[in-house]
Amino acid sequence: MFRSKRILVTGGAGFLGSFLCDSLLADGHEVICLDNFHTGSRSNVQHLHGHPRFEIMRHDVTVPIHAEVDEIFNLACPASPVHYQTDPVQTVKTNVHGAINVLELARRLKAKIFQASTSEVYGNPLVHPQVESYAGNVNPIGHRACYDEGKRCAETLFFDYHRQYGVKIRVARIFNTYGPRMLPDDGRVVSNFIVQALRGDPITIYGQGQQTRSFCFVDDLIRGFRALMDAPDDVLLPINLGNPSEFTILQLAELVIEMTGSRSRVVFNPLPQDDPEQRKPDISRAASQLGWAPTVPLRDGLAQTVAYFDRMLSQRVPTHVAASVPIQSGARLLAGGFAATRGLA
Ligand code: NAD
Ligand code: UDP
Repeated sequence: MFRSKRILVTGGAGFLGSFLCDSLLADGHEVICLDNFHTGSRSNVQHLHGHPRFEIMRHDVTVPIHAEVDEIFNLACPASPVHYQTDPVQTVKTNVHGAINVLELARRLKAKIFQASTSEVYGNPLVHPQVESYAGNVNPIGHRACYDEGKRCAETLFFDYHRQYGVKIRVARIFNTYGPRMLPDDGRVVSNFIVQALRGDPITIYGQGQQTRSFCFVDDLIRGFRALMDAPDDVLLPINLGNPSEFTILQLAELVIEMTGSRSRVVFNPLPQDDPEQRKPDISRAASQLGWAPTVPLRDGLAQTVAYFDRMLSQRVPTHVAASVPIQSGARLLAGGFAATRGLA
């Protein structure tokens, strides 16, 4: 029989978090969306204002949390390399102090808790495709380490809270996911390329574009989150969630140019430090334990994402200036401003 739960979503105003809130509400649950609005946006959850089962809590996960809930999804953390490297110490705190705070809450409430981990725990992987048993190849002192090591430490904390205190945990290792509601200045490759193509700006490829990624559409991923959270308690190990179709970054650029009909040219910028050369999930564990597999091909997901950005850019909405330069030296790149209207070359 269906029982409506009270569910805390940290990072609920972010790209993935806002879709997760939608999905939980659609199934009849109560949702508390906790966010400090660092990279999230009120506009992502604007349509939920006034919803009788939806609440926003402005809060930072690095500060202990007081709430009464049945389940917790911990998504709070900037996910774009541009954003998480802007304040690396805060990124580590968000991952580590944040994990302790949500786990303490789960322990006190005996609530089940889900961690949004990442394919970055594999670093620049030497095993391909990446299986969950692979321990990874991470540079602990590089520019990406605040995120990679922060997420690895969070996984450690999740498993230690499980072993030491019996907390019921779920850990998803998420591979590159894209879709509507990404910020136009997000800095990640899909949003950068689409916004650049729609504006007729140069498409910024880092390195030669031969590095690979496997792109999952947001709807598929959220279905995976829900399946993992609702899975039986013996589904304990981390589970990769992502789309195994692998593309080079150059192929992605060509596809975006073709789909937008843009006359943007491609420019080659330096490759950021420790940028993984290849990435593709082995999703056999998700298939066998959750019965989950992605269904949205890249072209279809991109079509929806292009339509979203096209609408947004046509409306001249306030945004930050696009931060499309990789950080090499800890430089801060976020500057406020107004996005230009869409301008196809
Ligand atoms: P996002 O940046 O859009 O969302 C992150 C949200 O967390 C934002 O709303 C932000 O304001 C909030 N936040 C950040 N620091 C916080 C803090 N200290 N306290 C409270 N809120 C805070 O990113 P996203 O793509 O939606 O990613 C969500 C989660 O999934 C992140 O934990 C990320 O590491 C993980 N993940 C995402 C991807 C992906 O491809 N989208 C891949 C791997 C892992
Ligand atoms: N990238 C790029 N141009 C951009 C943004 C990113 O070539 O404007 C590359 C980046 O160097 C990486 C890949 O695209 O190799 C994916 O980058 P993203 O920031 O989306 O996520 P990552 O997988 O690196 O966390």
